[in-house]
Amino acid sequence: MLPLVALVGRPNVGKSTLFNALTRSRDALVHDQPGVTRDRHYGVCRPEGKRAFAVVDTGGIAGEDEGLAGATARQARAAAEEADLVLLIVDGREGPSALDDEILDWLRKSAKPTLLVVNKTDGIDAEAALAEFARYGIAEMLAISSAHRRGIDTLVERVLERLPEEGAIAEPDEDPSRVRVAFIGRPNVGKSTLVNRLLGEERMIASEVPGTTRDSVSIDMERDGRRYRLVDTAGLRRKSRVDEAVEKFSIVKTLQAIEQCQVAVILLDASEGITDQDATVLGHALDAGRALVIAVNKWDGLSEYQRQQAEALLTRKLGFVDWAEAVRISARHGSGLRELFKAIHRAHASATREFGTSEVNRALEMACQSNPPPSVRGHAPKLRYAHPAGNNPPTFVVHGTRLRTLGDSYKRYLENFFRKRFSLVGTPVRFLFKEGA
Ligand code: GDP
Ligand code: GDP
Repeated sequence: MLPLVALVGRPNVGKSTLFNALTRSRDALVHDQPGVTRDRHYGVCRPEGKRAFAVVDTGGIAGEDEGLAGATARQARAAAEEADLVLLIVDGREGPSALDDEILDWLRKSAKPTLLVVNKTDGIDAEAALAEFARYGIAEMLAISSAHRRGIDTLVERVLERLPEEGAIAEPDEDPSRVRVAFIGRPNVGKSTLVNRLLGEERMIASEVPGTTRDSVSIDMERDGRRYRLVDTAGLRRKSRVDEAVEKFSIVKTLQAIEQCQVAVILLDASEGITDQDATVLGHALDAGRALVIAVNKWDGLSEYQRQQAEALLTRKLGFVDWAEAVRISARHGSGLRELFKAIHRAHASATREFGTSEVNRALEMACQSNPPPSVRGHAPKLRYAHPAGNNPPTFVVHGTRLRTLGDSYKRYLENFFRKRFSLVGTPVRFLFKEGA
C-alpha cells in the first residue's frame, strides 16, 4: 500500500515548492499537453529504486484570520489526520511564529509522528536556523531548501525510515497470472454499478481477497478464460445511496488503487462530458505510467444526437491520450463489457511486452531515416543506438549526442513511431535520453 505523508505549515513557508520538488513527474512531456490537469495538492513521490509514497499539501492548516476553525483548516486537518507521517514545514529565515506554535499545539494533541522541516535555509546559517526551532522539542529536525532542491534526498531518506514497514502493510501475494485492474473515476460515474454488475454475471467466478489493511479489498475474477484481480474495490461494492459515493471519494484511495494496478480503467459519465475532476484523476494515472482504458459509461442514456456530441467531445478533449482505447459501456445494462475487457487485455499485453535490443535499434534507425532530427544552430542531434529498459510502461533508452537540443515534437514523433512499429495500444511509452556515445 502507498503510505501518505502530509505537508503541514502556515502559508508561505514553501509547502507547495516542496510538494513540487517531491512529486515532480518524470514525464514532463505528458504534463505540458493541454487537457492534462496537474493535481496541486495530491501527488506521489517515487524515489528511484525505493518505495513510493503519497504526498498531500494540506494548504493552510491555520488560516490567517479564520484560525483553526475555518473550512480549509478543517480539510487540511482531515488530510493530516489520515497521514502516516506529518512534515511540519517552517520558515528558517523568519524563525518561529505564533501561527507555527498554534499548528504545533494541534499536532501534539493529535499525536501524529512528526518531522520538523526548516525550509529556506539557502544563503543562511542552517545550524542557527535549526537551533531557533529546538524549543519545539521535535526530536527530528532537518534543514532544507526546497527552491534549490537542497536536502530533498536526505528528507526523502528520513521519511522512508519513518514510514510503517512495507511488510506490515503488504498486499496479499501477487498472482502473476492475473491482470491487476483498478476502476477509477470521480464520484457517480458508475464504478460501483460496474463492479456489482461484473460480480452479478454468471460467467464470472469471483472471490474476495481481503487486504491486511483496513478496507482494502480486492476481488479475483475470471472472464472469457482470463484471470483478473480488481484491486481496491472497497467502497465500490454493495453501495446503496448516491450521497455515500460523494463522501467516499478519496484521492488517496485513488492514488493507492492506481499504484496497485497494472491497467487503470477510468470511468467517465457520457452525459456530463469531461470535468476538471476527471482530468485530475486521469493526470494521476498518467503520472504513474499506468496502462489505461477509458470507459465512457452511461452510454444507454443518450439519444443519437447526444452520442454524436459525446464522440466529438471525447476526440477533442482526449486527443492527448489517443493511444488509450475508449470503450462505450453501460454499467447498468452490462453492454460494452466484452469490448472493455478486450481493451484491458490489449493494454496489459502492450504494457508488459518484452523487447529485444536489436528490434529496438532497428526501430530507432528507421525512425531517424524517415525523419532525421532537425538541426539546431547548424548542428543536428545524433541518435546513435537504443536499448529496452523495462516495461510497464515500455521504456527505451536512447544514446546519442546533442540530445538536449532534441525538441518535444521530435520526441513525440519517436514515441508515435515506436507505437506504430510495435503495435502498442493502451500504454504510455517512455524514452530516456543519455548523452554520450
Ligand atoms: P506555501 O504557501 O507554504 O505553499 O509556500 P510556497 O511554496 O508558495 O512558497 C512561498 C514563497 O517562498 C515563494 O515565493 C517561494 O518561491 C519561496 N520559497 C519556497 N521555498 C524556498 C526556499 O527553499 N528558499 C527560498 N529562498 N525561498 C523559498
Ligand atoms: P460511483 O460513485 O462511481 O461508484 O457511481 P455509482 O455506481 O454509484 O453510480 C452513480 C449513479 O449513476 C447511480 O444512480 C447509478 O444508477 C447511475 N449509473 C451507473 N451506471 C449507469 C449506466 O450505465 N447508465 C445509467 N443511465 N446510469 C448509470
